[in-house]
Amino acid sequence: AKEDPAVAEVAAKLSNVKHIILVLSGKGGVGKSTVSSQLAQTLAMDDELNIGLLDIDICGPSAPRMMGLEGQEIHQSNEGWSPVYVEDNLAVMSVGFLLPSKNDAIIWRGPRKNGLIMQFLTDVVWDSLDYLIIDTPPGTSDEHISIIKYLKSANVAGAVVVTTPQEVALLDVRKELSFCAKTETPVLGVVENMSGFICPKCSHESQIFKPVSGGAEAMCDELGYELLGKIPLDPDVLMATEGGKCFYREKPESLTSTAFKNIVDKI
Ligand code: ADP
Repeated sequence: AKEDPAVAEVAAKLSNVKHIILVLSGKGGVGKSTVSSQLAQTLAMDDELNIGLLDIDICGPSAPRMMGLEGQEIHQSNEGWSPVYVEDNLAVMSVGFLLPSKNDAIIWRGPRKNGLIMQFLTDVVWDSLDYLIIDTPPGTSDEHISIIKYLKSANVAGAVVVTTPQEVALLDVRKELSFCAKTETPVLGVVENMSGFICPKCSHESQIFKPVSGGAEAMCDELGYELLGKIPLDPDVLMATEGGKCFYREKPESLTSTAFKNIVDKI
């Protein structure tokens, strides 16, 4: 079969990106954007690596806020859009930068969304990148089908799938994993977020979202996926993401930082 010209164009434009990582989740609100932004920031702690974060959650772009870049604008040059830099080795591109106000919503139908995704994959002028983290919308929508189709010949390392421990979330994650299998997208592993709460007063761990059937770990064992790590429900994670900070840099000694670092080491 003849290759879609869009696929070749995306592969050519992203040929200077070594590893593309898609961050997926079955549901909204499980921490997909938190994981995407913290992975990008934790990876960028290594000065030798160049990192990009591309936020194509068109209806709920979080990267500007979570990366401390609210109110920033992207610049258009002859070659395309220049991303916004957090540091020399960390560049961010988000639909959020294109919205006139942070309260504005994008209400678009599929074809227009696909057009924007294509533009985001081909028109951003990244430097050479070691890792490009792509924060996608929740679920398995039209956008996912487009992203995966367009990236078919690019250097996709695989997907990191984020879930919380409760059954309703795991049910949707199974669908997400089956979507990856059907679209031949390699799965790097699963992250269980909001996995237990450690009381800051007495250090006792409580299972707020009690995983009745063993949570993500049991699911990974059953289906043969790697559990990349468990990130606790941690008020400091909220503080770091609200403030656009790298959690690992802020609190390197905490259990949560170890969880983030372990995930980064595995991908
Ligand atoms: P999603 O991208 O899946 O919709 P977000 O990353 O936006 O989810 O997270 C939803 C909210 O939960 C955000 O306010 C975020 O700061 C918070 N959050 C995410 N993970 C954690 C965690 N491990 N501990 C505490 N708060 C968290």
